[in-house]
Amino acid sequence: MKFVIIGAGQAGATAAAKLRELQPDSQITLIGDEPAPPYQRPPLSKAYLKGELPLERMFLRPERFYSEHRIDLRTGVEVQALHTAARSVVLKDGTTLDYDAALLATGSAAIALPDAITGGLAGIFAMRGLADADRLRDRLKPGLRALVVGGGYIGLEAAAVLAAMECRVTLVEAGPRILGRVASAPTADHIRALHAARGVDLREGEHLVRLTGRDRVERAVLGSGEELEIDLVIVGIGIRPATGLAEAAGIEVDNGIVVDDTCRTSEPHVWAAGDCAAFPFEGRRIRLESVGNAIDQAECAARNMAGETVRYAAKPWFWSDQYDMKLQIAGLSQATDQTVTRHDGDVLQSVWYLREDQLVAVDAFQAPRDYMVGKRLVEAGAKVDPDQLADPTVELKTFLKA
Ligand code: FAD
Repeated sequence: MKFVIIGAGQAGATAAAKLRELQPDSQITLIGDEPAPPYQRPPLSKAYLKGELPLERMFLRPERFYSEHRIDLRTGVEVQALHTAARSVVLKDGTTLDYDAALLATGSAAIALPDAITGGLAGIFAMRGLADADRLRDRLKPGLRALVVGGGYIGLEAAAVLAAMECRVTLVEAGPRILGRVASAPTADHIRALHAARGVDLREGEHLVRLTGRDRVERAVLGSGEELEIDLVIVGIGIRPATGLAEAAGIEVDNGIVVDDTCRTSEPHVWAAGDCAAFPFEGRRIRLESVGNAIDQAECAARNMAGETVRYAAKPWFWSDQYDMKLQIAGLSQATDQTVTRHDGDVLQSVWYLREDQLVAVDAFQAPRDYMVGKRLVEAGAKVDPDQLADPTVELKTFLKA
């Protein structure tokens, strides 16, 4: 069998390793347009940005892994076309490769601010790849005035790193509150307080209108009319799934590359996994932007590409590091009808999300036990009594026995 994997990120690298394990005699080509071998992205807005993680520790596997496992890793080369009828891909360097099964693991791209806002100025940083983080790291120093646009996890993590490095950070979130898309008000309140305590000027319901300066950004004009003097801007306003190649190949796309529960696209010999894939989940179609999903879905896709029939049952989990706080999340907190908080004294430990008394998600703040129990309950689809859950004298393990 000849396997071609397009995109050498978390999902692509996982699928390559799985395929080698399942099919020792197959031909596996893993193609990525970034120069580095497959690496982990989460530290880009955390330890790597802080300078606490060396480059080698960013790589998912040592470079020799690929040759030792006869995975033909080609980095720094883009796949420009996918010809599904001919079952071949065309690389930018002119090479054509045939496949029996192909995997689209193209990930996503950071949404950029429009030129009308940036004025084409220098000093504006995305948070997507190693190149972005390296460029940004070179500029960071105490006293630097930074504007972070977007109060999602990536913007907040970058703000935390910069604040810890004694930069002066303003964060603007256009929505009424930070984390509006992904977490409840109690979670947002907890995180807002962390940033306020570190001196981050966090503005919700505020947006960036325009950046001005000679060649580089020098000032930001906000919706309120206020002008801030700044040295650089970090943009964390979301991502778009990388679907261009699939679309051009005539594969169905709808906020992601549409796949069935075996990770197969509308083309029978093409699968998709990771950030780029839109898959069935509890009666709707979703995309997940997380490491856990990229790994599990890529392994499932690889199994199916190798001839098994395995259905993908997503078990969403995520984490965020801000200052010395580790937030762990299990489940998806959208479309819930009740949130319950658990405290240890005055300190918030966890936020629990219920839909008709069924536990569907949990956010745990430096509380591994709450996370572990919550994850098990979420995955079991457990029903819980909200009053009991909110009662700190009721031990969490009680719910596991119920
Ligand atoms: P990617 O890792 O993006 O890999 C896709 C690769 O395909 C890229 O290298 C891309 O350049 C390449 N590619 C695209 N098109 C082509 C083409 N035509 N030809 C060749 N190559 C191509 N998740 C968590 O769970 N926890 C976190 O704390 C967390 N923090 C994050 C922090 C940051 C700053 C970022 C950016 C992401 C974070 N994530 C986190 C999300 C997580 O990293 C992604 O969900 C995960 O990397 C998705 O894996 P993927 O393989 O689908 O995509």
